[in-house]
Amino acid sequence: MFTCTTNSPEETAHLAELVGQKIREGTVLCLEGDLGAGKTLFVQSLAHTLGVEGEVTSPTFNLMNVYEGICPIYHFDLYRLETEEELEDIGFYEYTEDPEGIVVIEWSDKFPQCMPEERVVVRIEKSDDGDGRHITLASVGERYQEFIKELESFVYLSH
Ligand code: ADP
Ligand code: MG
Repeated sequence: MFTCTTNSPEETAHLAELVGQKIREGTVLCLEGDLGAGKTLFVQSLAHTLGVEGEVTSPTFNLMNVYEGICPIYHFDLYRLETEEELEDIGFYEYTEDPEGIVVIEWSDKFPQCMPEERVVVRIEKSDDGDGRHITLASVGERYQEFIKELESFVYLSH
């Protein structure tokens, strides 16, 4: 697990860009944090780094958006989701179980029991003073541990 602090939206976008440069197909990335923490901003920057040209917005009513970048990117937002069953209805598990492309999930912590066992968790917390954010990146399970280590040195070197 590693932690960093950003002091502006641009710095968070830059962190997401670095993640985008290292992320591999087949990765599931879960974003946690309150409303306005910066989850969508993170996904926008990540998607643009992966070659997505159109608009990237939170999929509120349809629960999932798909973008075409260098690989497909499946963007879920579970904010409005009320029951676990709805996940089945939208085919959530088909996307997350052995993903082709990259899967990003906002508000994954609403239904932790439905998330794949192996995942990357990005947690964004507001600090007391306005634009600061504490961001942690962690691997749940073994699969992404190496990725998190690599990312940590990459972010450190890119500073
Ligand atoms: P979420 O998807 O978590 O609800 P958004 O990404 O939609 O949040 O919005 C985050 C808001 O917080 C944006 O308006 C952004 O400009 C602002 N913001 C201020 N400081 C930061 C920061 N350090 N990192 C990310 N966003 C920030
Ligand atoms: Mg959002």
